[in-house]
Amino acid sequence: MPMLLPQLSRRQFLKRAALAGTAIAFAPPIYAAVADKTRDENTFAFFSDIHIAGDVTTKHSDVNMADNFTACVRQLAAWPVKPATVIVNGDLAFQTAQPADYATFAKLIEPVRAIAPIHLSFGNHDGREAFWSAFPSDAATQSATALKRQATVFASPHANWFLLDSLIATNSTPGEVGPAQLAWLTQELDKRTDKPAIVVVHHHPQFTDKVPGLQDTAVFLAALAARRQVKALIFGHTHDWQVTQHDSGIHLINLPPTAYLFQAGRPNGWVRATLAADSAEFELRALDPKHPEHAQVKLLKWRTA
Ligand SMILES: [Zn+2]
Repeated sequence: MPMLLPQLSRRQFLKRAALAGTAIAFAPPIYAAVADKTRDENTFAFFSDIHIAGDVTTKHSDVNMADNFTACVRQLAAWPVKPATVIVNGDLAFQTAQPADYATFAKLIEPVRAIAPIHLSFGNHDGREAFWSAFPSDAATQSATALKRQATVFASPHANWFLLDSLIATNSTPGEVGPAQLAWLTQELDKRTDKPAIVVVHHHPQFTDKVPGLQDTAVFLAALAARRQVKALIFGHTHDWQVTQHDSGIHLINLPPTAYLFQAGRPNGWVRATLAADSAEFELRALDPKHPEHAQVKLLKWRTA
């Protein structure tokens, strides 16, 4: 069951904005701001660990998560081009995946629906059923698969994208790909060896015993490493922006949170990625423009096929 919120047409968008009233009052200006921009089919925007609570005034670690997410959305709307796709990589909800969290998330994500189609992944603070209650019309268009995970594949000019669902239990820290989803992933990867593959999942591959991440890291990474088309693995969960490389040559991109940090001084914000045939640029767009890592562009060259 893929989690895709399609981009809305101008007509649909303005009608919904009018019906929703002041809650998304800044949505029509965003539509006007992005309407004339061209779309770059090779540019992607990532938000992760947004942790939206039902009450927009909720703070955690002195951070207002709704304000942070909204600031990131405004920055995306101000970006010179429209991205091909926006990916929100899990922990959409605050902590316990309340229907009210998703109702507020639906309002805050609405302006993004003027910009691009949105793929959503689940993290350990999400709940699959509560999520769909906030998107009844979109839920109706989704078809169930035997996987019972929100995993999907989509293509872009320079890469095939594989989005996974690593949620085991709401509000419990560890995650897993799981044998059934891993079997599905390897099958889908093996059907698509013509282009680079980029895999996206909420939980980080866990190489040390610090924050619990993917419990099946070893078997998952072995499956990716053995498939030479896999060039990058993108994840969140640790609330810490890091770009490293696995021994196999696969790039490991740890997205920053838009919400609170676990370690003072680290950046929060969003990430812009632009793909080429043999590489990709990843750029941190920190909420604090004075952060030393803000606007740093990492050029990642793909390992050979
Ligand atoms: Zn999180």
